[in-house]
Amino acid sequence: MQVAALPKTVQLSAYLQDSRVESQPASVTLEADKVGDRLEGPRLEIEDPLYRRARPDANGNYLEQPPTPQFDQVTSFVTAQATLELAERLADQSIEWAFSERSLGVRPHQGTGMNAYYVRQDESIQFYCFDSRPLDKTVQVSQCADVVAHETGHALLDGLKPEFLYDWGGHSRAFHESFGDCMAILVAASRPALVDRALSETGGDLLRDNPINRVAEEFGLAWRKAWDPSDERLFLRNANNNFLYVPMEQLPENGPPDSLTRQDHSYGQIFTGAFYRCLVAMAGPGGQHLSGAAEELGRLLLHAVAMLSPSSTTLPEVARCMLTADRQLYGGAHEEALSRVFSERKLLSTEEVQAWRRQYDELPRLQKSNDPERFLRRHQQALGVDASAYQHYRTVRDRQGRERWELLSRQRVDTAALAGEIKGGLTLTFDPAGRLGWLSRQDITRERIEEACVALSKLGPEDISLGPAGGHLYPAELGPDGLVRRSAWLKD
Ligand SMILES: [Zn+2]
Repeated sequence: MQVAALPKTVQLSAYLQDSRVESQPASVTLEADKVGDRLEGPRLEIEDPLYRRARPDANGNYLEQPPTPQFDQVTSFVTAQATLELAERLADQSIEWAFSERSLGVRPHQGTGMNAYYVRQDESIQFYCFDSRPLDKTVQVSQCADVVAHETGHALLDGLKPEFLYDWGGHSRAFHESFGDCMAILVAASRPALVDRALSETGGDLLRDNPINRVAEEFGLAWRKAWDPSDERLFLRNANNNFLYVPMEQLPENGPPDSLTRQDHSYGQIFTGAFYRCLVAMAGPGGQHLSGAAEELGRLLLHAVAMLSPSSTTLPEVARCMLTADRQLYGGAHEEALSRVFSERKLLSTEEVQAWRRQYDELPRLQKSNDPERFLRRHQQALGVDASAYQHYRTVRDRQGRERWELLSRQRVDTAALAGEIKGGLTLTFDPAGRLGWLSRQDITRERIEEACVALSKLGPEDISLGPAGGHLYPAELGPDGLVRRSAWLKD
């Protein structure tokens, strides 16, 4: 009998959350070939030119302890790798980066500041440090697992849906922020020690705050205290929130912390709050199924994302695609819980849930062919689509044999000073037997054109990069086609 050799593993010391939550780092196991002998795996690598690179001990383990720059390297690498592996497992597919086949750089010491970035042009996630007088320490943001998972989440979503960052409207970016926080929640819920702790701290009542729903404990506390030293709340954002969906245009542009505004991070909390409430519902009484519920909810989220139109999205559309994913993966086992939460949170009204059900039940189960554009022309009437507007963008297959065809449409948008471009799109998802299972679309509506015009009219010449940005992050860039588009980087 042949026994497959188990992959060689190594131990690395890392915070599962951060030093506010844990008195000392935990020991985390990763496959040796994902780590290499310089924190350089096939998908991720530490970039930290100012400091000596952490090296493994004689057994191949990285057991650095804080406070050293080498510990920051190890702990940020561990969480970024854990986030990547979790997302690929939940999505049932490998997720390429948006920039190239190179690995994603993890920069634990990018500079001084109270922030972290994902910058596609730099092919990296970047973490800053800052002195916190109230906490009496220098906070290394690279030590905060939630922030690392959040930034890695941006990189993953950018790989899955690269056009989202060019969307002129706020919805796709708000979902980007929410997706980052959802990944932080899922990574935390994938760590048994944190699940045990969440259950013991709350006595199984997950509507009480715990390390899984609090996003960025140490960073959040330091950030809050910088404005108000009496603020003791241990989070940057809290997924255990009560925000209800409202159309973005009804909200103010900005507002006090923890209020609901149009700002990406704030607006994204609507979805994150619903997501966490779904987790609580699926975890059952006393939170007894928390680990398994997080795994299933995570699969629903990643499969929903794969089904979204490639051009852009909205929070209600993600909710609809999660309901669809539940039918496809679990035969609708979570439909009651999900639709109840989505209705309570006003992401989908009861009528919209009914409309989704009809759409799902009545969708023609067409058999896929090998030419997406021809398929769309042939079936445009049945699908209610104007096929002439769309060009095939890419085809993505998952490990179960599902196939997703992504198509894009484009329209030029002119303002007095600038010309830009707006994209619509649709994704056709085929089940492993090759039958059409779902269609998600985002049209170029009058509202979206207006949003693009408003965004373009706010840009001055100094906001637009004409070539490689040389370290400066411009809000927009001029494409080779002479059209202006948003820049693909994200702050926090
Ligand atoms: Zn972010």
